[in-house]
Amino acid sequence: MKQIYLDYAATTPVDPVVAEAILPYIKDIFGNPSSIYTIGQGSRTAIEKAREDVTGLIGAKPEEIIFTSSGTESDNLAIKGIAYANRDKGNHIITTEIEHHAVLESTRFLETQGFSVTYIKPDKYGWISPDKIKNAITKKTVLISVMHANNEIGTIEPIKEIGRIAKEHGIYFHIDAVQTVGHIPVSVDELGVDLLSLSGHKFYGPKGVGALYIRKGTKIAPIIHGGGQERHIRAGTENLSSIVGLGKAAEIVKGKIQSETTRLTGLRDMLIKGLLEKIPETKLNGHPTERLPNNINITIPNIEGEAVILHLNELGIYAGTGSACSAYDLGPSHILLAIGLSQQMAHSSVRFTLGMWNTKEDIEYLLQVLPNIIGRLLEEEK
Ligand code: PLP
Repeated sequence: MKQIYLDYAATTPVDPVVAEAILPYIKDIFGNPSSIYTIGQGSRTAIEKAREDVTGLIGAKPEEIIFTSSGTESDNLAIKGIAYANRDKGNHIITTEIEHHAVLESTRFLETQGFSVTYIKPDKYGWISPDKIKNAITKKTVLISVMHANNEIGTIEPIKEIGRIAKEHGIYFHIDAVQTVGHIPVSVDELGVDLLSLSGHKFYGPKGVGALYIRKGTKIAPIIHGGGQERHIRAGTENLSSIVGLGKAAEIVKGKIQSETTRLTGLRDMLIKGLLEKIPETKLNGHPTERLPNNINITIPNIEGEAVILHLNELGIYAGTGSACSAYDLGPSHILLAIGLSQQMAHSSVRFTLGMWNTKEDIEYLLQVLPNIIGRLLEEEK
């Protein structure tokens, strides 16, 4: 059976070239990067090369990159690290209602530790107004954290404008760029951000490795204490092979962002048009224009999103109902609720996210089979 993977926002397959690059660091090259003898230094050199490659993707300097275990850890480090290190300045944080759980659970935890958090509501497209951010700033605000693009509905946020506001007020600005790095051009200077989270498995690298960009001069506290690796900000012997894989993925994807953006935008728009035409009452979630090139999120009234996913699965087509992480809790997506969908409509949503190995034929096949699946499900409902 033909298999069509349409859940690239959940995770991407590892690029075969990345897999090749990782292998020697699992099989042969094993020295501890902190050791001063030759085999240790071989590992150190590989890590520093990966650091260079990550900087190339976001316009940073090598000493501003800290390797972590995931996008989740990067978010935790940015938020808790800034909050703890700057407590003498204030205890107020601004974020949004539509962040990933890695951000929201970090801020909720900080609320139990004496911090106060303002959660900005998005508009119906999932767009965060810079004015709302500005109006929420108080004398005690130490951090603003806004995602670059939303993982479920694909809306790209006005980061540059928010960055300007943060700078004017002397407030640290963190973006969760897990869904954008490797997919659209990202420059930390152009966007005006102080901290940026990214994750290897969202752009054809391995799982379980991420990075946090920390602008030089930023006051941040570690959240993992130990041997002083990663500039005393993130202790623990480095995940050598995965860091090598992350670097290789960054190097490869950098040269493909422009062409993939154009190609995927074409496929995305073809799929959106086809879905809206072929399935009555279908509604597109997320911003009509300010959206990721690979994201399609729709609501089909009176249909269970999960039933659609299971029927597609039987045909070898893999899609999602929302973020893979929230598959653990069966409640409706907090993101869809935040943009105003009812609980029922939120349950009737399906997400398709495209990537490097999708073709026009994949979209045509989906558009051929999905209306029939929906038709059958609606019949069963009657
Ligand atoms: N932030 C966003 C926007 C995400 O989409 C994800 C993963 O789905 C994460 C953070 C967490 O990244 P990781 O899976 O590397 O922990």
